[in-house]
This record gives sequence, C-alpha cells and structure tokens, in this order.
Amino acid sequence: MLLEKMLEYNRKFVEGEDLPRKTPRYPNKHAVVLTCMEPQLETLLSDALNLHDGDVEMIKNAGALVSDSYDSVMRSLLIAVYERRADEVFVIGHRDCWMEDFEYKSTIERMSLQGISDESLDSAGQEKNLAEWLGSYQKVEDMVKESVHTIESHPLLPEDIPVHGLILDPDTGKLDVIVYGF
Ligand SMILES: [Zn+2]
Repeated sequence: MLLEKMLEYNRKFVEGEDLPRKTPRYPNKHAVVLTCMEPQLETLLSDALNLHDGDVEMIKNAGALVSDSYDSVMRSLLIAVYERRADEVFVIGHRDCWMEDFEYKSTIERMSLQGISDESLDSAGQEKNLAEWLGSYQKVEDMVKESVHTIESHPLLPEDIPVHGLILDPDTGKLDVIVYGF
C-alpha cells in the first residue's frame, strides 16, 4: 500500500536535514481559493499564480463546486473569511477538467461492480438524490459561475468580499477571468 511507502519516507524525512518549514498561521495574501482536486493543478496553480506556502487558504474538491449553500465547502469559505482573515474569494476551475465529462450513471455502475449492493444504493438514494448529489456533465464555465453565484449570494457572506471566478489552462498556465468580483 502507498501508506507504507509514505511512512517509510516520513521516517527518513523526520531524521533528515529538511526540517518542516514554518509557515504563518494566517494566509499572507488574505485570500481563500476553491479549486479542483485534480493532480495536474497541484504545482501548476501555485506557479501560475505566484502562490507560496502560507499565502492562501486552499479548498479542493471535484470541479471546484459548491454543491449546496450549507455544504462543507461553504462552511470552510465562511470560516476563512471570518476566522482566517481572508478578504477575497477565488473560485478557480480549469480547462480539460475531468468533471466536464463526468456522468453520475457511470459512477453508480462502478459502485455496483465494486460490490456495493442494490440495498445500499437504495438506502443512499433515500438520503440523497444521487443523480443530483453526484452531479453530471457541465461546462467548466458553468461550474465556476454556479459556484461564484452560490458564494456571493450567501446570506452570511459580507457584501464587501469580492468573489472571483477564473479558469486556468493547464497547457499554458493562462488564467481567464470569468467573473470579476466587486
Ligand atoms: Zn478538474
């Protein structure tokens, strides 16, 4: 398992010269970023936006989506604003996002193939509308605009916090502004 390799590396890391770098407690750039979880953005986003350790609070999920006004992403954004001194919100989607081709039906099929029973699917379906919850095909522009709209219209977000919507091109590193928040 990967965990064993990680633990082995970690033992060497702790004993080695590269001591963990101290980073500030609050974000240097007073901002919070919601972006996609895909590995292709891992270092590109930081390089393309000149972000370093400790600069921003970063929230990641599939497609940089806020699925619900009171989901855990929205809670984290509000905590970043009120408790972590973030005064600007960035929603950053990206071209070639895997979520653009995502179709919930194939995930449900994979769940069945990996041994999730019909009973479990039915009981989950009673808790949540799985089609809505897992989501389906959307263009990245629409995903970004939808997340920005949910965040900026939230009753608990102060009106003077700008919420920007951006799309990063992973091939060139270019950032396009979809929504310029005020
Ligand atoms: Zn993505």
